[in-house]
Amino acid sequence: MSHLELQRRGILCVVSGPSGSGKTTLCRRFSDEDPSAVYATSATTRAPRDGEKDGVDYFFLTREDFESRATRGEFLEYAEVHGNLYGTLKSEVLTHINAGRDVLMDIDVQGAELIRKQTDPAITEAFVDIFILLSGEEELLARLAGRGTETQDQVDLRLQNAREEMRHWPDYQYSVISADKETDFATFSAIIAGERCRSTRLAPSRETAEKHPELGL
Ligand code: 5GP
Repeated sequence: MSHLELQRRGILCVVSGPSGSGKTTLCRRFSDEDPSAVYATSATTRAPRDGEKDGVDYFFLTREDFESRATRGEFLEYAEVHGNLYGTLKSEVLTHINAGRDVLMDIDVQGAELIRKQTDPAITEAFVDIFILLSGEEELLARLAGRGTETQDQVDLRLQNAREEMRHWPDYQYSVISADKETDFATFSAIIAGERCRSTRLAPSRETAEKHPELGL
């Protein structure tokens, strides 16, 4: 019996959740550990935090540069979040999906809504969205304060935005109520494993179709 090989189209996995939900860590860890997944590095006008590297954590752009790239249509989506612009460059996404790699995007609820509205089949067929929920306001506060990377004013703004952001969880196909890092990662990985098995993502090669008449391809 010959080996059954189905090529797969990549997943466009949009992950949102309030600051401190651990969504960036989940996306980064998954793409570091899984050779078929890549993290879409976003562009932003916010200043780098200590230790953040240009081109790795974000592409750090001036507002002028960001806006001219937006005018040239270089972004798949962009939005103003916490007073700064954040956006996903098309170049970080489309070639990977077409090559069968899964793209993980950590973006806010406005950006997710803009991607849901896209009509390009390459995007709509690849799309899946996951919301990472925190169990309550206390947990939210504890995680925000615990990061220690923001001033009190920034923490207050993020808390206010987080409350607003949390209300959007029903818009997402999947919601993960955050427990601890390992449990969250296991749940997240299980969702992607399931999504990878969707029949609609599988595209058999011509050779496979010829070798397996029983599949009716
Ligand atoms: P932070 O400043 O903490 O790195 O990110 C702040 C917020 O911006 C997070 O909610 C994050 O999901 C969101 N964000 C990061 N990159 C993008 C992006 O490319 N597009 C959009 N719409 N939001 C983003």
